[in-house]
Order: sequence, then structure tokens, then C-alpha cells
Amino acid sequence: MKKTVSIVIPCYNESEVIDVTVEELLSVTNNIANYQFELIFVNDGSADDTEAKLLVHGKAHDNIRVISFSRNFGHQQAVSAGLDVSTGDAVVLIDADLQDPPKLIEDMIAKWEEGFDVVYGTRSSRDGESKFKLMTAKWFYRLLNYLSEVKIPLDTGDFRLMDRQVVDHLIAMPEKSRFIRGMVSWIGFNQTSINYERSARFAGESKYPLTKMLKFGIDGILSFSVKPLKLSIMMGFACSGVAMLMLLYSVYIRLMTDHWESGWASLLVAILFIGGVQLISIGILGEYIARIYNESKDRPLYIIKKNRDHNNRDNNVDQNNSTVE
Ligand code: UDP
Ligand code: MG
Repeated sequence: MKKTVSIVIPCYNESEVIDVTVEELLSVTNNIANYQFELIFVNDGSADDTEAKLLVHGKAHDNIRVISFSRNFGHQQAVSAGLDVSTGDAVVLIDADLQDPPKLIEDMIAKWEEGFDVVYGTRSSRDGESKFKLMTAKWFYRLLNYLSEVKIPLDTGDFRLMDRQVVDHLIAMPEKSRFIRGMVSWIGFNQTSINYERSARFAGESKYPLTKMLKFGIDGILSFSVKPLKLSIMMGFACSGVAMLMLLYSVYIRLMTDHWESGWASLLVAILFIGGVQLISIGILGEYIARIYNESKDRPLYIIKKNRDHNNRDNNVDQNNSTVE
């Protein structure tokens, strides 16, 4: 029997690109012999006509499935939903904007057949991104790696193929702050990479504005490292050290010289400095507590809405998956 490969494509306001993407994915997968493909499009609460377009493709092709969220839950949630409903022996994650070349899927499958459980795409270059995004992305991945207890590959997004056993472990992980590329590293197994050149979006704008990117980055760091918590201790020691030196200095000034009344400026600086450090530390604590709070609420990761169109195949599918344990 042919092996099945699922392809999960998160889509948020991708009306401009979605038709071309569907076409491209269909043509690429049709050219790969000996495998069956299942294309799972997750419409992450798009405000444009992405959903309508997807449903048309879903009707036209048996191997296209469409699930729609009740609102915009976010990229990582959309990917999680796709993984939850996927049935393939392997699952490929790919963006809807063709920044990651679908042609690479064939190479990923070849590596998978060699025995690798995870084959991820590493960006050797990135076209069409702003200098700011390139810089922040570069430093983010390096900082994350320094802070994280597991090694998370540099310059690697979610574009990857995963074997079924990895996907099952990923689905079973209950955390709500999902930073999937990190979680996959944490899971382990046999992982390898393929280098590729990431092209520019061929239409539409990035759906990751600065605020979303920041949230994503902070999620990545705080979900994979407790080092920021330890930072407060270091800052505490540093401040106490400086305070100690200042104490010695003022005693010296008082006893050994005549101009000891000066020094109010350093006092002010010291107070502001300690105040700042304390606020930062409380902020870091707060971020972790917010995450504990979110996890303890134990809400589902996303909600799938029922499709009102009764002719659609996927009408009642997946309702069991609308919540994730
Ligand atoms: N995306 C999503 N929900 C969101 C934001 C993005 O499903 O809230 C999808 C988007 O449609 C795309 C992928 O996630 O398929 C990556 O987004 P984008 O290309 O905008 O990010 P960038 O490549 O600029 O980092
Ligand atoms: Mg993109």
C-alpha cells in the first residue's frame, strides 16, 4: 500500500496567494510517485475570502481538506489543528505564501525514507525581508539557543517533515504556549536538515507584524528556558556589589577628605538603578506567572467552526478534534 503524506498549510488572509499555492502544491505532489497526499488547509479565521476559495478547492479535489477556526487563533494553533486531524505516515508543515519551496517536499521524503524522523528546512538565505526582520530573526535564534536547554536549530522555521511517531508525541504535549519548532527539537529522534533559499512572498503582506513576532519570540524563549528568572539573581548580585563599592567609597571620602558633601547624584543614580532592576525582575516573574495562569485555565487551543455548507465533505468532520486535551 502507498504511504500517505499529509501537508498542513495554515492560512490567514491569504486570498491573494491561495489559488496559486493550491495549484503549486497539487502539481508538486502529483509529480511524486508512490505516495498519497492529503492537503490540510487550516483557515485561521481569515477576514477575506480565503475560506470561500479554499472550500471551492476542497470540493474539486478529494485529497484537499479544509478546516476553519471560529476566529484568528494564530499560526502555531493553526499548525496544531492541522497536525491533530492529519492521518499521514508523515506530515509536512508549509506556509501558504510559497516562501518555502514545495519542490523541497520530495527531498524531505527521500531523507525520511533514509530513516530520519524529522527533516527540517534551514534557510541559507532569505529574500524580500526587511533588514530589521533579518537582523532580529538572526539574533533571536542565537539568543534562543543560548538560553534554551534543548538545542533548537538556527534559522529554521516550521517548514519540515515529521514522521508519524513525532507528530503523535507533539499532539500529546499539553502546553498552550506552543512554540512548535522548539517542541520538535525537545522531542528528539533522528533529525536532519536540508538547506534552501527562502524566497520572498510572491503576493500579499506578512501576517506577522512586529507585535505578533514579539509575542512569538517571547513565547519561544520563556517556554524553553528558565534562565531569565536566574537573570534577576545575577542583577541582584551585581547591584549589591556596586552598592558595596559605593559604601566603601563614601566612607573613604568622609574620613579621608574634606569635600564629602557631594554625592547626591550618585545616590539618585543608585536608587533609579535598583528600582529599574527590581521592576525588570518583577516583569520577568510576571511573564512566567502569566504562562502558569494560561496553562491552568486549560482552555482548548482553538475552536473549529462547523461548515454550514451541507454539500461539503468536511461538514461534520473533525468535531472531535475541536478541543485538544
Ligand atoms: N498565519 C496564520 N495565522 C496567523 C498568522 C499567520 O495561520 O495569525 C499563517 C500565514 O497565512 C502563513 C504562515 O502562517 O501561511 C506564515 O505567516 P507569514 O508568511 O505572514 O509570516 P512570515 O513568513 O512573514 O514570517
Ligand atoms: Mg511568509
